[in-house]
Amino acid sequence: MTAILFEALKRAVGPEYLFTGEAIGERYLHDWMYSAAAGTPLALVKPNGTAAVSAVLAACHANRVPVVPQGGLTGLAGAAVPTPGCVCLSLERMDAVEEIDVAAATLTVQAGAPLQVIQEAAAQAGLFFPLDIGSRGSCRIGGNLATNAGGTRVLRYGMARDLTLGLEVVLADGTVLSSLNKMLKNNTGYDLKQLFIGSEGTLGVITRAVLRLYPQPRSTCTALLALPDYDAVLRALAHVKSGLGGNLSAFELMWPDFYELITGRVPGVRTPLPHGHGAYVLIEAQGTDPAGDADRFAAVLESALAQGLFADAVIAQSQSEAQALWRIRDGSGEIRQVFGQHVGFDVSIPTGEIGNFVDSLRARLQAQWPNVGTVFFGHVGDANVHICVKVGVAEQPERAIEECVYSEVSRWRGSVSAEHGIGTGKLAYLEYSRSATELALMRQLKQMLDPLGLLNPGKVLPGPLEQAT
Ligand code: ZN
Repeated sequence: MTAILFEALKRAVGPEYLFTGEAIGERYLHDWMYSAAAGTPLALVKPNGTAAVSAVLAACHANRVPVVPQGGLTGLAGAAVPTPGCVCLSLERMDAVEEIDVAAATLTVQAGAPLQVIQEAAAQAGLFFPLDIGSRGSCRIGGNLATNAGGTRVLRYGMARDLTLGLEVVLADGTVLSSLNKMLKNNTGYDLKQLFIGSEGTLGVITRAVLRLYPQPRSTCTALLALPDYDAVLRALAHVKSGLGGNLSAFELMWPDFYELITGRVPGVRTPLPHGHGAYVLIEAQGTDPAGDADRFAAVLESALAQGLFADAVIAQSQSEAQALWRIRDGSGEIRQVFGQHVGFDVSIPTGEIGNFVDSLRARLQAQWPNVGTVFFGHVGDANVHICVKVGVAEQPERAIEECVYSEVSRWRGSVSAEHGIGTGKLAYLEYSRSATELALMRQLKQMLDPLGLLNPGKVLPGPLEQAT
């Protein structure tokens, strides 16, 4: 059976792009958080276009072999990690930006294009693709869409889902579903592309997309505020939302544990506001009128100060000062080095409840582990909180910490994954955020689109369907 499959795969992608055994390469065996069990994939293929992806999926379907789609392998939940006996389907050779339509403000791209290449192509055309995450240089747009990536500009532009107008997807049996719509308005029945965005490769393989572009920002204003508590943060958010309108592009909250850790321990990070405040918020606004935007930004903050909405602030006076402020928030990338081994979380809670949730979770963690260390930060404008928990023993009791955090998330009707996805890492906790009815409908959709359970098995949905493969 394997010989027949390998012949078909060679015909699909060319013999030089079928890899087996050692030739697969270590890089395809893990994402940024999870690793495969040793020697799991049967093969790795690198098709050069939609027709080749279709032929690969048809061959795997005929031979009943599971397929794991892979982009830049920068995920944090294990969705692209190979499963036993699978064929890894890497889209990295499909990296062309095919078209920029300035009048429609769209960019058509193959799934393997790195996010940064897309951002640069849009900028060269005088336009702007707003999706931005730390892995921009190595993540691929197919993976961004398959996981419905978020990042720091969701507040203004939405998630990857909101930035997608059209999609081309190859289904489990090799059928090509072309839905490369360019129009903002198109109410012709079900919006099929949304089924595949965020499905983490379990319903189909995204091969091309039509992305939505925006005008290039001409001004950026950045400030760091110090506030007494979360209630003040909520009042400040409402104030800057109404004062800055659509220009508000980031509202990033750092609790004191995060701010003190990053400014105290990460080399090269300055401390623009003293320690000791209850909350720190990084605000960014982007507009198209450099002189007017800066005046308006300063005026909005002045009126907030006059109303006592915050205690202290610094407004960046140059690009390098703005970068220094962002350096604090981007210090999240160095938490492992300065905080040590911990369990990390990416949850969402309705914005108005985040302060209560954090207080309640802290109390529960402290009751269970008196020496617990925590780091809280997040995109609170879009309800997203990142949490790091370390309980002070060499071997972290991961399961107990997860149980504590996720049961609290469930109590506040939050989500166990705000932006990183389910993959395998959060599989056991999906039911904390989704009802039995929702899960049953998800399983029906999976059954309909992938009746043999061959597309990225064991990811996203726990339960009998995956085990049956
Ligand atoms: Zn984030």
